[in-house]
Amino acid sequence: MADNTAFSLSKQRSIGTSAMVFTDQPAPRASVSHAEKARSLYIHIPFCAHKCHYCDFYSIVDQQDRQQAFTDRLVRELRAQAPFADDRPLETIFVGGGTPSLLAPKLWKTILQELDRLFDLSAIREGTGEFSIENNPESVSPQLAQVYAQGGVNRISMGAQSFNPIQLKALDRTHDPEKVPGAIEAFQRAGIHRVSLDLIFAVPDQTMDQWDTDLRTALALPIEHLSAYGLTYEPGTAMTARLSRGEFTQMPDDIEAEMYLHTIKTLRAHGYERYEVSNHAKPGAACRHNLNYWTSKDWLAVGPSASGHFRGARWKNTPRLDDYLKLDDNGFAPICDYETPDERRELMDLLMTSIRLTQGCDAKSALTRAQTLGCEDQLMLAAVMCQDQGWVIDADADFWQLNDDGFLFADRVARELIGALIVDD
Ligand code: SF4
Repeated sequence: MADNTAFSLSKQRSIGTSAMVFTDQPAPRASVSHAEKARSLYIHIPFCAHKCHYCDFYSIVDQQDRQQAFTDRLVRELRAQAPFADDRPLETIFVGGGTPSLLAPKLWKTILQELDRLFDLSAIREGTGEFSIENNPESVSPQLAQVYAQGGVNRISMGAQSFNPIQLKALDRTHDPEKVPGAIEAFQRAGIHRVSLDLIFAVPDQTMDQWDTDLRTALALPIEHLSAYGLTYEPGTAMTARLSRGEFTQMPDDIEAEMYLHTIKTLRAHGYERYEVSNHAKPGAACRHNLNYWTSKDWLAVGPSASGHFRGARWKNTPRLDDYLKLDDNGFAPICDYETPDERRELMDLLMTSIRLTQGCDAKSALTRAQTLGCEDQLMLAAVMCQDQGWVIDADADFWQLNDDGFLFADRVARELIGALIVDD
């Protein structure tokens, strides 16, 4: 489950192309985290076999008829953005969707060869870099696994969501949970050993026992990383419509919190540490690509609806595949959102994401940046308030870190910190 959607999907109209992101930006500022060339790349593959009811990622039901056109267009966009990695080794690539594993192996071959030609993948091939692709167990084959492995992919993310057919049905997921172990094995046979699994809890009517069984089934698999998300009801999804029609009731907050705490405890007992609100890994196995998002590093982004961050500017490609295929500005894609660099917004973004990390938010750096905005005292006061509420461990420490209670209120803490930067006109 990739979270590369930095802007609301309701804004879908094209306002230009991503050429403006790359040609408008001044030289990077040495003082901030995006001072280097982009070291990361996100690729969005929009095809899915079916639209799951809870999903608000951009995806279209795959008819197999536009995969070639999409691949050709994606390659052109990769060529347009590659110079902005400046011939230096990419540290991370993440392919999300959609269901990337639905793309035909021969088209994957084309994309992977092109990546090899355009970018320096030496760090990835040596194993110090990370190249992850999201997969659905239904669309994995030994042939696909071989193509990935030859192309340098060294980590896979498997969308299991649940092993219980009742919860899968409630989510309107159509895959067979019994295919998950075989899909993982296919990748491991091909030489890809780093595996992450996605699970969802707080599904309507799910019991604690059912959730515990899901966790234990996942832990019996050869995985190094587990993302466990509480079900969210996003506006405009079929799940939200079903909820408002009264077809089921939402999991009460206290039971969801209990499931979350049970997750932390169970995973810890098996050697997985929480390094972000919903993400847990064995030592050294945290997802580096997502850490780059959460610490506001730069990343390139290609494909419909992909969001990128370059020298402080943010943009989002237009989601609609038709528009993506049609508008080609020397390879740059149509975009529906573009935010030029802005110190206040950048600091807000950093606070919002880094406070969700176990390592916490770099307080010294945040306060220094807030000082230039005239908000240092307000930000410190907000951190002290969060400490007084029992959410932040120590407002005077070098890093503001959430305690176990604070992780339950991470969004609230983020709002308090961000609120300190808002100035009335
Ligand atoms: S497979 Fe994933 S991306 Fe596709 S519709 Fe389902 S949840 Fe969304």
